[in-house]
Amino acid sequence: MNHIFDHTRESLKQTLSNAGMKPFRAEQAWQWVYSKGVTDPEQMTNLGAADKKALASAVGLALPTITAEQHAEDGVIKWLFKLSDGQEIETVFIPQGKRGTLCVSSQVGCTLTCRFCHTGTQGLARNLTAAEIIAQVWLAKKQMADFTPNNTARKLTNIVFMGMGEPLYNKDNVFTACHILMDEKGFAMGGRKITISTSGVAPEIEAIGEELGVNLAISLHSADDETRTKIMPINKKYSLPILKKAISNFKLRENRRITWEYVLLKNVNDSLEDADKLIAFIKKFPSLVNLIPFNPWPGSPFECSNPGTMNAFRDRIAKAGVDVTLRKTRGEDISAACGQLRSETSKRNTVSLQYPTVVAVYGSEKQQELSKIKVNIESTE
Ligand code: SF4
Repeated sequence: MNHIFDHTRESLKQTLSNAGMKPFRAEQAWQWVYSKGVTDPEQMTNLGAADKKALASAVGLALPTITAEQHAEDGVIKWLFKLSDGQEIETVFIPQGKRGTLCVSSQVGCTLTCRFCHTGTQGLARNLTAAEIIAQVWLAKKQMADFTPNNTARKLTNIVFMGMGEPLYNKDNVFTACHILMDEKGFAMGGRKITISTSGVAPEIEAIGEELGVNLAISLHSADDETRTKIMPINKKYSLPILKKAISNFKLRENRRITWEYVLLKNVNDSLEDADKLIAFIKKFPSLVNLIPFNPWPGSPFECSNPGTMNAFRDRIAKAGVDVTLRKTRGEDISAACGQLRSETSKRNTVSLQYPTVVAVYGSEKQQELSKIKVNIESTE
């Protein structure tokens, strides 16, 4: 792939050097793109005509288009981006105090079929390129006017690979994207501001620590092999003992912890016995447990646990001395369940939608109100 967003700074310098640009001119182009939010060579005022031409011919510069942009009343923003082959992916921004987390997709759809996940019903279309991953961040920053000089007052502070897809099934492109995100002369996001969340692709977990040094989140959802296999078929391949061994080999950086994602499903994984199994599974690791109220979508086979059950589950974990949060749902007034906006927008001509409380929707063929669905993605750092 040869889009400008596919390149690390070094590989861009090499590519542009092959096209006749001097290395410091390539550095200037890099800074236009990542510090100033400019991809049009004509706007790069310190490049001469020959360098502008070389840049435009050496790398792809086209951007995904925005199919939809939804703003929830609590500040959550959700985008549906259309890629060059017509595929669509979702990206969600979740503000929380001074922190702003962007949840990015790593695949179009997903091969895994976690039964509580709407994306899992869609199948896999393809992996995203590194450029398509970076484009989500770049476009989100552009839409939020978040290209600020000297890294001050940024809205977007954290990235989680927790959108559509299993990031470790697209490891090479996800890792390249992380290197680009962490470049000190670009987005300059530290490793502790980036989290890769995996459903448990055990053989690749160690590399997250070794090669990147970013945070690890595990979509666990049950610490009982039989239950986990029922709701997450990947558990047949990488059972809990295999997963635990892989996590034990993950090099946890100083003052960091592993985040455990746990969707609470009524009468499936929400008993106090389930909480005890979770505590036993994670007790040797510095941990943060994120309990997530299940976010029902049309046709989903599960219900959200009762509030009292969720609170008792949380209290049991807290009593064991483990940090735990019971997430508030965010973006309640937009269709923010993972994979849902993509489904709904693709069906928009045939399905009657009734969504009363969207603040704004841009980019659709016509303004339409979208579903009252809750988002359950939140920063893990
Ligand atoms: S939870 Fe993640 S890994 Fe599982 S089906 Fe959904 S997108 Fe895929």
